Amino acid sequence: MIHRNQDPKLQQIAAERIDILFREAKLNPEYANRYVFLARKIAMKLNVKIPKEYKMRYCHKCYKYFNSKTVAVRTNAKTKAVEYKCLNCKHVNRYGYSKEKS
Ligand SMILES: [Zn+2]
Repeated sequence: MIHRNQDPKLQQIAAERIDILFREAKLNPEYANRYVFLARKIAMKLNVKIPKEYKMRYCHKCYKYFNSKTVAVRTNAKTKAVEYKCLNCKHVNRYGYSKEKS
């Protein structure tokens, strides 16, 4: 039996809606935080993953959408990661840029 929230059809729709929300967030900065909130809500409810490229666009602590004024991006050669420092809550979000394990 398929769990209600695991329905592939619903998950497909959810993935499409998340895609639309993040595209809209990019186009409408004034509503971006709202779109991130909605996308996360859909993802959680229907148990779908937010694609990595979208995950990198908002803070994982306060969930504010990043733009040039709300984030400081730098690379850390030591940890081989790109660091996104949220200027709203000061949380540092790290994303590895190397898949190789040394
Ligand atoms: Zn933050």
